[in-house]
Amino acid sequence: MAKIVIIGAGLTGLSAAYHLELAGYTDFKIFEKESSVGGLCRSVIQDGFTFDYTGHLLHISNPYFQELIQKFIGWDELNLIQRRSYVYSHQTYTNYPFQTNLYGLPTDVITECIVGFINRPRSKSNSNFYQWALANFGYGLTRHFFAPYQSKIFGYDIRKVTADWTGRFVPTTSIEQMIAGAISDQTDTVGYNANFFYPKTGGIFSWVNKFAKQIKTPINTNHCVQKINLKQKTISFTNGQSEKYEYLINTMPLDLCLKLVAPTSNLDFTTAQNKLICNSVINFNLGINRSDISDKHWIYFPEKEFPFYRLGFYHNFSPLLTPPSCSSIYGEFAYVNKGRNWQHQTLQLALQKTKALFQIAPDQILTEKIIPISHAYVIYNFWRAQNLPKLLNRLTQNQIYSCGRYGAWKYSSMQEAVLDGQTVISQILKKVEPQCHLKPLCPTMPTVMS
Ligand SMILES: Cc1cc2nc3c(=O)[nH]c(=O)nc-3n(C[C@H](O)[C@H](O)[C@H](O)COP(=O)(O)OP(=O)(O)OC[C@H]3O[C@@H](n4cnc5c(N)ncnc54)[C@H](O)[C@@H]3O)c2cc1C
Repeated sequence: MAKIVIIGAGLTGLSAAYHLELAGYTDFKIFEKESSVGGLCRSVIQDGFTFDYTGHLLHISNPYFQELIQKFIGWDELNLIQRRSYVYSHQTYTNYPFQTNLYGLPTDVITECIVGFINRPRSKSNSNFYQWALANFGYGLTRHFFAPYQSKIFGYDIRKVTADWTGRFVPTTSIEQMIAGAISDQTDTVGYNANFFYPKTGGIFSWVNKFAKQIKTPINTNHCVQKINLKQKTISFTNGQSEKYEYLINTMPLDLCLKLVAPTSNLDFTTAQNKLICNSVINFNLGINRSDISDKHWIYFPEKEFPFYRLGFYHNFSPLLTPPSCSSIYGEFAYVNKGRNWQHQTLQLALQKTKALFQIAPDQILTEKIIPISHAYVIYNFWRAQNLPKLLNRLTQNQIYSCGRYGAWKYSSMQEAVLDGQTVISQILKKVEPQCHLKPLCPTMPTVMS
């Protein structure tokens, strides 16, 4: 029996455990189904190449998160990198974001985007993502980028998706920016991810592992939760063990968590389980015996011809992620409800297109790693917008605090996962042990760019 039980040792669960210890609270246990911690923030080292569970870049905007990063890994072990990201369309590379960088595209495409922006419908009926894109960017930008790209990354009908996730993820534009970006190749500094940090060695897991090592309480790996009994306040595992709790912190995907909750006379989550939709991503990685594959960090692919929505290049995050004189590519494609045949065929096409685009001969490929990600991007459907807050509230009333990217069913980053872990502990400690306090550290900001 532990007063607080944490399900999942991804970044949110680790952060919850860390913040409990920081507050001097030890009556808790943490369980993880895999044999190692880190969740989606793990990295794989294969044949001398380091791959993440698709490229994970550190964006730091919160002073407290920044202080934690400094404490656990230190700036000397991180590269601070200015983004070189592009959109590939009409056989042309344009700077990201597309809406401010049309330079190099065919004249009729540039004209369509600029005229479309000027004539965009000013109505505020942004009832779905497609309409939101039309109202904010106009027909040309929507046709040439937003609609095809977002359909690909979601693998879902963008008319059935709300726009309430867009916020900082979609930079705005103006007619001045569009014209300037159409007549000259501009410096690329727009958006939340204009700069990012990346560990010099070991992939993204290297800082997450250092974070995990701060936690003194043993992390119970190989413990897959199979059932949650709300009445008895017990969770049971596939290995036959069980654990009683008073407060449960859930960081596993919410749809899966609800499936494990045994229905009671007044609580039945069957509808919710089926209405929560997310996509899956297949992440393919190639280790290549050639150093000149690309000088870019990553490239977005809106066009249908390419099954992937993004390709990225680890060797440009840090040269230590590949053997000397080598490079590596990661790619991602997304889907909702597609069978094994579709997945296999799409993967073959994605690999073929990638090799053709970068003229990679079969004997130049030293290694290949395919990583399926079952829960990748939460789909912001209309059911979610109306029902998620109520659903999370009902769980909280039953002492289940569901948090993190998948626990709270949202689109968020590593930084938010760490902050979510801190927030949930503040909430629970107020109830359990009001004299325990979290002591935030004081912030300092790195100034050196490399
Ligand atoms: C394609 C993609 C790209 C991304 N890129 C970036 C990026 O560049 N920068 C960035 O900041 N963020 C990025 N993210 C987001 C980042 O991965 C997440 O915010 C973060 O990993 C969420 O951590 P979490 O602990 O909430 O979830 P998870 O990492 O999913 O952790 C949940 C844990 O619960 C465990 N679990 C599941 N079921 C059970 C069970 N039944 N019993 C016990 N344990 C269980 C899992 O094994 C896992 O360890 C990206 C995400 C995706 C999908």
